[in-house]
Amino acid sequence: MTERQRALGVHRVLEPAGVLPQAAWRLDTSPDLHPDEVRISVQRLNLDAASFRQLSEEHGGDGDAVRAAVAGIVATRGKMHNPVTGSGGMLIGVVDAVGDDSPLGLEVGQPVATLVSLTLTPLELTDGLARWDGRSEQVPTAGHAVLFARSLAAVLPEDLPQETALALLDVCGAPAATERVVASSGRRPSVAVLGAAGKSGCLSLAAARDARAGHLMGVVRTEQEAAALRAAGLADDVVVADATDPLAVAEAVGRPVDVTVVCVDAAGAEHGAVLATADGGTVVFFSMATSFSAAALGAEGMAADVTMLIGNGYTPGHAALALDLYRTTPGVRALIDPRVHRS
Ligand code: NAP
Repeated sequence: MTERQRALGVHRVLEPAGVLPQAAWRLDTSPDLHPDEVRISVQRLNLDAASFRQLSEEHGGDGDAVRAAVAGIVATRGKMHNPVTGSGGMLIGVVDAVGDDSPLGLEVGQPVATLVSLTLTPLELTDGLARWDGRSEQVPTAGHAVLFARSLAAVLPEDLPQETALALLDVCGAPAATERVVASSGRRPSVAVLGAAGKSGCLSLAAARDARAGHLMGVVRTEQEAAALRAAGLADDVVVADATDPLAVAEAVGRPVDVTVVCVDAAGAEHGAVLATADGGTVVFFSMATSFSAAALGAEGMAADVTMLIGNGYTPGHAALALDLYRTTPGVRALIDPRVHRS
């Protein structure tokens, strides 16, 4: 095994042999560390929103069934990797052991959040998820997880509740991607965010504003969310449309915008996002429920000359950006706090 393979965690893949941990069906969760690994004593998982929605819908909102499903996935795969959505989430815990050759700079006893997906993080749970009712994205639990040399983790900030930090860090790639697209456009682009009252959506609006975007529009599903988003003051315009109904989205947005950011947690938002975007514009697909084929073939079928970006969960500085947007933007706090406390 080469140093690079080990740094990427290939030695932890049980099947199929030779793939990277994210593509693996099953990982080795042994608590015994290789010299470049770190072990985390796990306290809480944050399930990816698309994964939690899919599991809840599959089990008709039955919390016990959702809990059994999550426990089953982790026990079977050695990681929280939803086989339907392909997504995971992230976790918080305390650094339990650090291999002598770990380059991550972590120390035993530090409270941390992993910034790499649960879909590639070896994870073993020891409490049968007994403290979780199966009705929220955040999962209090116990067990251990392993980080590789190429993993990322952030020491949890002392000024924020851990649940809040976990929720922010889970989606911190969205505001970072939005900021990058807006800032690199060379002018003040108009921006529409689908799912704008959600966690990644409101952070993306705030990031777009800070990056000196032009007109900002929030697209939400219900009048209730519209009222909350208007009160938060993050968008110039708030419109109501089902993001999975392309014509409704296009009509609600009106004149196509320069940048569309997809932050819904439901499948089927690709065509609405493309229709809402002007020729020459950009769509950022942050949602894990995005279908590559629906986006690519849909854009082709509409003869839409748009650039489509996959919202990479990692951008340098993404964690600090999201935490700072939360600290400095009352409207972001007003939208995120109720979602975290609901968890
Ligand atoms: P969230 O807080 O639950 O927000 C999602 C928002 O979308 C909610 O306001 C929801 O409304 C709204 N929504 C759902 N279906 C809709 C529809 N048909 N039309 C209009 N709005 C709709 O979720 P989040 O944590 O921000 O996550 C958003 C997405 O980002 C998820 O797909 C998640 O998987 C993805 N994600 C991606 C990465 C990455 O690295 N790319 C990392 C983490 C998460 P309701 O509240 O009324 O349902």
